[in-house]
Amino acid sequence: MSLSLTPDRIFDRYTQITPEYLKQQGIKLLLSDLDFTLAAKSTRRPDDELRKWIAELKENDIQFMIVSNNRSGKRVTEFCADLGVPYEGHAGKPSTRGLENGMKRANVTRDHTAMLGDKLLTDMLAANRAGVLALMVEPVGGAVTAWQKVLHALQEPFKALCRSRCRRGK
Ligand SMILES: [Mg+2]
Repeated sequence: MSLSLTPDRIFDRYTQITPEYLKQQGIKLLLSDLDFTLAAKSTRRPDDELRKWIAELKENDIQFMIVSNNRSGKRVTEFCADLGVPYEGHAGKPSTRGLENGMKRANVTRDHTAMLGDKLLTDMLAANRAGVLALMVEPVGGAVTAWQKVLHALQEPFKALCRSRCRRGK
């Protein structure tokens, strides 16, 4: 179990994560955070861009599941139902519980699983503890509140480490 906060790769947006890239990494199951990763927190319905991205994953036999800490179950339930994807709610990230449940449901091992998210202390720590590929995106809509701006600043050294590793081809 790794307690590292550092992601394996950082992308500006989720749309940059292609089926080709995931296949190269041997990924058969993509677990993903919802808020600030795939949509702004206030968004109640998935947009066409997200629907298209999910459809492309499915066409390429890559399973997809939302793993969310969100406590307002109704919005996440409706969002995922609309999108036609399964989800693990109250995941308790950085606990690995939601990720482990997702892998069990999909019948995919950690070696073939990736976790996508926007936060180091929940999404990336959970991914590294669970031993899955840790993929990070810049938060949708950027940092708005003072707390989000502080969190962004705290995340920066870990993101810089990831970027320098990627440049060295690791
Ligand atoms: Mg998030």
